[in-house]
Amino acid sequence: MNLLRQAMFVGGIVLVALPLAWAFLPRATVPGAVAQPVVAPVGKRIALSFDDVPRGPGAFYTPAERTARLIAALRASGVEQAAFFANPGRIGASNDGAARLAAYAAAGHVVGDHSFAHRDLRAVSAQAFLADVDRAEDWLKGKPGYRPWFRFPGLNQGGRDAVKRRAVLDGLGARGLSVAWVTADGSDWNIEGQTIAARKAGQAIDEGALRDLYVETMVQSADFSDALLRRVTGRSPPQMLLLHETDVAARYIGDLVAALRRDGWTIVTADAAYADPLYRQTGDFDSANGTLPEAIGWQQRVPGPLYYARNDKPLADRLFAERVLHRTPIATPRCRVQRHPWRRVCSQTAFAPRRPLPLGLAA
Ligand SMILES: [Zn+2]
Repeated sequence: MNLLRQAMFVGGIVLVALPLAWAFLPRATVPGAVAQPVVAPVGKRIALSFDDVPRGPGAFYTPAERTARLIAALRASGVEQAAFFANPGRIGASNDGAARLAAYAAAGHVVGDHSFAHRDLRAVSAQAFLADVDRAEDWLKGKPGYRPWFRFPGLNQGGRDAVKRRAVLDGLGARGLSVAWVTADGSDWNIEGQTIAARKAGQAIDEGALRDLYVETMVQSADFSDALLRRVTGRSPPQMLLLHETDVAARYIGDLVAALRRDGWTIVTADAAYADPLYRQTGDFDSANGTLPEAIGWQQRVPGPLYYARNDKPLADRLFAERVLHRTPIATPRCRVQRHPWRRVCSQTAFAPRRPLPLGLAA
């Protein structure tokens, strides 16, 4: 973090913290005055969610160590309840995935459905997709901490294929499952992937810079979504931050929670966030392949970017290379980023060769 950024950061904290502190200060009673009920202003609220549980090995810990560290850090940070979205198909005889899921639930967190095999809806029929959901439900239902929440793999609800999307949404409804929308996304999975790749390549990792990049990116993604949701809904509903069950999260989630609070956010439970009417969407969007604010914004044709800039992999990879690896990009070809729903496809970049899948498809 350079000096200018530090100054802006501190300045931002002061600007946010002072009015907030004033708003929450207990008011002295004025003699003779009629007592007025004190209504605390509703500030920015956010819940945490971790997808793809149980994920495989990361850059720093064994999966079991990751789970223990993540649970301990959430507890130490006063995070009462996060949501963990499971892919039971990742659980095998050779890993401890079932025990890890049980550990999250035992620590007070809740467990939702992320499908059995993490299939992209674009690649399978609605019928096959729902069969995969059923396999996951067979495993999850009745387990401690279970919630009837379904999160689409890659946040892809079928893109512009309205017929397939409607068939799947109706199928989920018939099963008593609600869509576990995400509102804030900073592509944390890419930071984890870049870290693993750097480790494997034997590259030196500036761990302080890694922490700062992760924390800064996730906080910015939350603020981006808050601003967009205020534009498209006229209010500031509780957010649901998309994270993944990664070593980076296990290492820096405490720093992230502290930074969110410094930025004016209150951490709420997943139950509290999903109780907001915002999340009871019918799903009749022109396109749904990303966050909820993005889908609403696209539907309303609001001008301006509908997704947080660092969800573009070329930009995210360049930042990682420059700040965490202290590498200079070998080339900076122009990359025209297109709008939703192909926003994450870019054919020219120094660090991210063309990929067939749109971004948001977490590993
Ligand atoms: Zn996923």
